[in-house]
Amino acid sequence: MSDEMPVTQAPKYDLHTHSLASDGTYRPAELVSAAVNAGVTHLALTDHDTTDGLSEAEQAAEQLGLRLLPGVEISVTWQGKTLHVVGLNIDPAYPELAAGLADLQARREIRANEIDRRLAKDGIPDTLAEARLLAGAGMVTRTHFARVLAARHLAGSVRDVFDRYLTQGRPGYVATEWAGLVSAITWINGAGGVAVIAHPQRYKLSATWLRRLCGEFKEAGGRALEVVSGNQAAGDAQSTAHYCRTFGLLGSVGSDFHSPDYPWCRLGLLAPLPVGVSPVWSAWDD
Ligand code: AMP
Ligand code: MN
Ligand code: MN
Ligand code: MN
Repeated sequence: MSDEMPVTQAPKYDLHTHSLASDGTYRPAELVSAAVNAGVTHLALTDHDTTDGLSEAEQAAEQLGLRLLPGVEISVTWQGKTLHVVGLNIDPAYPELAAGLADLQARREIRANEIDRRLAKDGIPDTLAEARLLAGAGMVTRTHFARVLAARHLAGSVRDVFDRYLTQGRPGYVATEWAGLVSAITWINGAGGVAVIAHPQRYKLSATWLRRLCGEFKEAGGRALEVVSGNQAAGDAQSTAHYCRTFGLLGSVGSDFHSPDYPWCRLGLLAPLPVGVSPVWSAWDD
């Protein structure tokens, strides 16, 4: 018997993460290396409304022997609510997707100026300039405003800042019309990817609304629900798995990692998919 048996690492998927290209704090290459250290073998970088981090992540992944799935997390407005649709295994050069994301980035820029104006009116000046410094070459998100306000000690934590200033009904909240649900799915499918409803339990939808969403999503060509997600409540994975079975949708797993400062969303720290749910990677691993 040979004592040089090949060592095959058990696959470990984390299919929802962020980098500096949106509101994460790691460079794409740092994210890949942190994922390798966490035992992740298959990683999707899914920045908000941008694919700018993918080429750096791809290079790092090649060097470190990790499988990188190119991804994106698209902001969607559906029935007046903001939802997130993750695209996995996309071709970022697909023109309709690239154009759609460019349009969302332009909307983000308009919103950022409006958030700055409203916060200034509320007695908190010059937040956009500081948010831009934090964002660097990446886009400005609400998370950047939240970090600016937290650094000024206007609230105890980034979460508190969201609650006091940046969510609906608060002084710095700006309602924005994002992509349509059908558009986002169409861009992702056109780009050869798989559309996934991110963290379906975070939208506080009633069962009736969630059923409606799953029905419309499936009808438009959506393929999966994020069943296992970072920081989810006990029972969320099981209840989301139920929607997968009912609607014939695949199941995804993703931490939604942004930063080591958020210990409740660790890279690769994910429960297994509940029994009876087909994994989203069966859509591309055959
Ligand atoms: P945006 O897409 O610019 O509106 O920012 C949304 C991002 O803000 C989300 O992806 C989260 O990363 C973050 N976020 C939203 N709500 C909260 C919250 N209550 N606490 C901390 N981060 C939040
Ligand atoms: Mn985010
Ligand atoms: Mn999200
Ligand atoms: Mn996310």
